Amino acid sequence: MPTIFTKIIRGEIPCYKVAENESHIAFLDINPVAKGHTLVVPKREIDYVFDLPDELLADTMRFAKQVAGAIDRSFNTVRTGVIVDGREVPHAHVHLVPIYKEGQSVSLKNKLSFSEQEMKQIAEAIAGEAAK
Ligand code: AMP
Repeated sequence: MPTIFTKIIRGEIPCYKVAENESHIAFLDINPVAKGHTLVVPKREIDYVFDLPDELLADTMRFAKQVAGAIDRSFNTVRTGVIVDGREVPHAHVHLVPIYKEGQSVSLKNKLSFSEQEMKQIAEAIAGEAAK
């Protein structure tokens, strides 16, 4: 079933895109919990991440690894954490949450606010690294 992520994939609504290939797209979460909080989304409309066919699930994590590398190189991260939640948007996706302090826990609570200009700059920085 089409969700807001399908509309983003089809280019019907905008996003702060950081990377895309034939089967996946990555864009900034609109309600970030950290600078560079990114969603990695397989283009196939499947709700539950563990309903993805094995090969697609593996591709999702491979793509997530590339994007996480780009996030880590773009900003002064300690590492990038991974969360799969899926309660809000019923289209499988992986949250990549950069960690900026040793020992910091990864959570989807405590949203931050960035201006449109800042979001654009963050996305461009990650996209530039992802394209290398
Ligand atoms: P969940 O389904 O619980 O993993 O959460 C869905 C995530 O998608 C939330 O963190 C939202 O902030 C994010 N989100 C919802 N709509 C958009 C959008 N149009 N662009 C970017 N992120 C979005």
